Amino acid sequence: MHAIAIHGGAGTLAPADLTPENERAYRAGLERALRAGFAVLDAGGTALDAAVTAVQVLEDEPLFNAGRGAVVAANGLHELDASVMDGRDLRAGAVTGVRHVRSPIELARLVMERSPHVMLAGTGAEEFALEQGLQPVPNSHFATERRRLELERMLQGQIEAGRESLMGTVGAVALDASGNLAAATSTGGMTGKKWGRVGDSPIIGAGTYAANDCCAVSATGHGEFFIRAAVAHEIASLMRYRGLDVADAADEVVMQQLVRLGGSGGVIAVGRDGRIAMPFNSEGMLRGAMDSRGLFKTGLLRE
Ligand code: ASP
Repeated sequence: MHAIAIHGGAGTLAPADLTPENERAYRAGLERALRAGFAVLDAGGTALDAAVTAVQVLEDEPLFNAGRGAVVAANGLHELDASVMDGRDLRAGAVTGVRHVRSPIELARLVMERSPHVMLAGTGAEEFALEQGLQPVPNSHFATERRRLELERMLQGQIEAGRESLMGTVGAVALDASGNLAAATSTGGMTGKKWGRVGDSPIIGAGTYAANDCCAVSATGHGEFFIRAAVAHEIASLMRYRGLDVADAADEVVMQQLVRLGGSGGVIAVGRDGRIAMPFNSEGMLRGAMDSRGLFKTGLLRE
């Protein structure tokens, strides 16, 4: 069996802003990414290729906070984070604070596959990108009017920092027909972030984790809390050491541990049996799931 789940962030939309046109656009974007990732699996491709493919579709789609359409930091720039993990051998790659890399998830994968490291930051990561032959893009490539206005409103105190509407991330988890799991996550972080702030998305074990013996997880939400709860790895641990299935493990972390800490957001997770869980404790989480048994769904708010 094969399966894929994706998310487009827990904070991208305020329920009040969800017009029918918005809803259609979000669902269409999610569906494109889902189908692109699923097609890789259907053709016998790996979970890693499927997860990265789905995330790249979302990075290029300006509706989501990753790649084009990423939020704006306090310095007026887009500073992007991404990470990927291959459940076959626990290899992982991550980048943080990159400004000129069109697809941060592609660079994270290159870090995993072509460097001896797991995480590269800022200018060093960009130097590596150039060495790997990636064509740099101007920082304005990521800009959208909506995100510029959000920063302005935040700086004027009209929206509080940390509000869900200022967040968002994209991610994908996949199980391929050979039983391999992979997870990928990419984000612009949080609107108005400063001092080189890094959230959970590029942190292996917090925003991203995959291991063939249990599950693949990609998170979205208020990153500081997700780091403290080591969310993605905690879900794997509950499966390994307490024997929980993927749905119970993800629920325990998102609906109990994170809630106790005060962290809002959610995760997508797929178990090695192909079961998919997509719990969130925020008002909404853009999400979708598809598997070889005929499952197809997308969702935006609570059902
Ligand atoms: N987790 C991301 C961060 O804290 C934001 C999000 O997923 O909404 O950077």
